[in-house]
Amino acid sequence: MTQPSDKALVPFVSVDNMMRLVHHIGVEQMITQIAAQIEADFKRWESFDKTPRIPAHSPHGVIELMPTSDGEAYGFKYVNGHPKNTSEGLQTVTAFGLLADVYTGYPTLLTEMTLLTALRTAATSALVGRYLAPTNATTMAMIGNGAQSEFQCLAFKAMCGISTVRLYDTDPNATAKCSKNLRGKGLTVVPCTTPEEAIEGAQIVTTCTADKKYATILTDNMVGPGVHINAIGGDCPGKTELHRDILLRSDIFVEYPEQTRIEGEIQALDEDHPVTEMWQVINGTAKGRVDDRQITLFDSVGFAIEDFSALRYVKQAIEGTGFFEPLDMLADPDDPRDLFGMLMRAG
Ligand code: NAD
Repeated sequence: MTQPSDKALVPFVSVDNMMRLVHHIGVEQMITQIAAQIEADFKRWESFDKTPRIPAHSPHGVIELMPTSDGEAYGFKYVNGHPKNTSEGLQTVTAFGLLADVYTGYPTLLTEMTLLTALRTAATSALVGRYLAPTNATTMAMIGNGAQSEFQCLAFKAMCGISTVRLYDTDPNATAKCSKNLRGKGLTVVPCTTPEEAIEGAQIVTTCTADKKYATILTDNMVGPGVHINAIGGDCPGKTELHRDILLRSDIFVEYPEQTRIEGEIQALDEDHPVTEMWQVINGTAKGRVDDRQITLFDSVGFAIEDFSALRYVKQAIEGTGFFEPLDMLADPDDPRDLFGMLMRAG
């Protein structure tokens, strides 16, 4: 039987290899490096094809495709959101992704993206935090202590100087898990029993909960002047976390308005409510935080370019390492037109 040529073998990063890669680089280091890649890609925002992600909704959850291309590379992520999954011992969010060469159309990387999504989401949050959070921020409230939470806490520690995290979850087991996982990681961790307690003295409030409903994790009276809100969990039609009055008092920053208006907190606002695109803040053409009393809100939903940045980061990071397996996923007949002949010879 003919062996596939090297150019037809696609590097595949399994969950196991992704974990080895993260340990090799270090969680905080890797988040910081992915953030640098995202920042560089946001600066060249206009060179990307952009579309709101393509969802398939069901009563059980949502399955989404997130494609983009810069003309040289093409990437997509497959990701689900199933809040009911945790009660069945399954993850709310799982993902995998692919990078391809636009010139040949051949895939150049296939990778798990459940861990990578948590890393890139944390990287994006902290990157945005650098532009919007009060410069002297030391304390973050982390509301929702599920799968994303430790990544968020460590990203804000590594990139925004956060030294204390105040944790709250409706499920005390989730808070206990998060506290335990953050032990020895250089953060002062304060488990709290109410959201009000969690936000005490916090300059940054991260909300990362998963119920598919118009939830009010934060009410208006809980948000004081000068706070930066990093709202991660509202990322689907019919799923928000903040009371509308908070939005009306905040300066709102988004990734890609066309997607955020469908999925983000701002689905509760008029379609022409002003928002600022983060890529413009990052490239210096729009203002971020302008004063100490301003409430800034990052209405995060997760955008394809962040995944593209993370995919390209992984592709470079695995070069010359053993953290991948070559995958025989492309048919590669010696004569490109003789696909059938290749099949028959294999018999
Ligand atoms: P998860 O299910 O692991 O954790 C969610 C946690 O929220 C659970 O521990 C749950 O008990 C808690 N919770 C639910 N209602 C709450 C409430 N009212 N107050 C406090 N805690 C509450 O989910 P996850 O993987 O951590 O993801 C959380 C959310 O973030 C999901 O909705 C997901 O879609 C979203 N997400 C967004 C992005 C992005 O880029 N914006 C990326 C990844 C995940």
